[in-house]
Amino acid sequence: MDKRDTVAVLPCPQYERAAVGETVERLLGLLPRDGRLGPHSRVTVKPNLLMKRAPNATTTTHPEVVCAVICWLKQQGVRHITIADSPGGPYTKQALMAIYRASGMERVAAETGAVLNLDLGSREIKSAGSGLVGSFTVIEPLCPREKDSGCDYIVDICKLKTHCMTTLSGAVKNMFGSIPGLLKPRMHYRYPQVEDFAGMLVDLCQTVTPHLVVVDAIETMEGDGPSSGDKRQLGLLLAGASPFAVDVALCRLAGFAPEQVPTVRLAAARGLCGDDIEVVGQPQLLCDRQLKLPRSASVDFTGRLPGFLRPVAGKVLTALFAPRPRIDVRRCIGCGKCAESCPPQTIRLVPSSRGRGKEVAVIGRKDCIRCYCCHEMCPVSAISVSKNLLTRH
Ligand code: SF4
Ligand code: SF4
Repeated sequence: MDKRDTVAVLPCPQYERAAVGETVERLLGLLPRDGRLGPHSRVTVKPNLLMKRAPNATTTTHPEVVCAVICWLKQQGVRHITIADSPGGPYTKQALMAIYRASGMERVAAETGAVLNLDLGSREIKSAGSGLVGSFTVIEPLCPREKDSGCDYIVDICKLKTHCMTTLSGAVKNMFGSIPGLLKPRMHYRYPQVEDFAGMLVDLCQTVTPHLVVVDAIETMEGDGPSSGDKRQLGLLLAGASPFAVDVALCRLAGFAPEQVPTVRLAAARGLCGDDIEVVGQPQLLCDRQLKLPRSASVDFTGRLPGFLRPVAGKVLTALFAPRPRIDVRRCIGCGKCAESCPPQTIRLVPSSRGRGKEVAVIGRKDCIRCYCCHEMCPVSAISVSKNLLTRH
């Protein structure tokens, strides 16, 4: 077994600074020492900062976990640490600052001396994956180091959540935030079928590969994640050197078969992980917690089709069976975030019957590719994803 396939797991019941700090230190001490870390390293930590939400909403990586990882890096002698992510929506300084503030990252940076990324630059990186994608546009702090930019070490600090499109959001899915702002919906548009989208995510993770993964599974999200699900306390922290092996462990914890999670299934098919991970720390804690699946789960048929049939048959099957996003107009505040993130731009804001000047969002059903970006980005959970009559059971 590759030493990268070791996953460490330890209990940590709550986000209390001393407890999280001590657990992260013990957790990372269980993994083989990484000689690449030192005073000359440029490290980028990549939390999940999906949207402007407070830490207790369970949508973003908790700041105490990020703080503990940065403190551990400093103990290893690292001096240059940047916190970076490209959240959903536009990639602007104003949007980043608002999210850093709401998610608690601004405070973490002030307390630890880490740098909050405000560099909006990006680079084109040749894909090191399967060939499905030729190259990726990647935000500068997650690009390979070049003098005073980029980094030579990436720490993926993900949040365990369920996900309407990819079933599970863990180490691999978190790296989608290396693509700048509104280029992300374009990837959804280019790869509308779940199987292809997951293949793109695995390619991306093979290209922008974290050297270390830490999972915030103290409070997780189950059901209609990644932003409208329910909070679920698991009281765990996990870590590993391989994002693919970590996701196998997260499947085990969530109670999902690896075949149910397309990124895990495809990574296994590419030989990037297997079921034989070595679990250290308190392995008995890595047991099936039966996280609630998203309501959209289990309706991807395209993965079972031969590649040449997918573009046409996948479209037909998606139109027939994939759940549709639905807007609850009573909840909608007309903010337009769904329209901004909709890859085929099929959402319009129209005048609301609730008063002059008020608007609500409306989905143009014909062009909807069922990517659920709108559901993911709605700040007030006004968009639900419900199965159609054929797939309801
Ligand atoms: S309406 Fe929602 S699910 Fe449909 S394409 Fe737009 S963002 Fe994706
Ligand atoms: S559905 Fe949600 S994201 Fe879209 S306009 Fe309404 S409140 Fe905003």
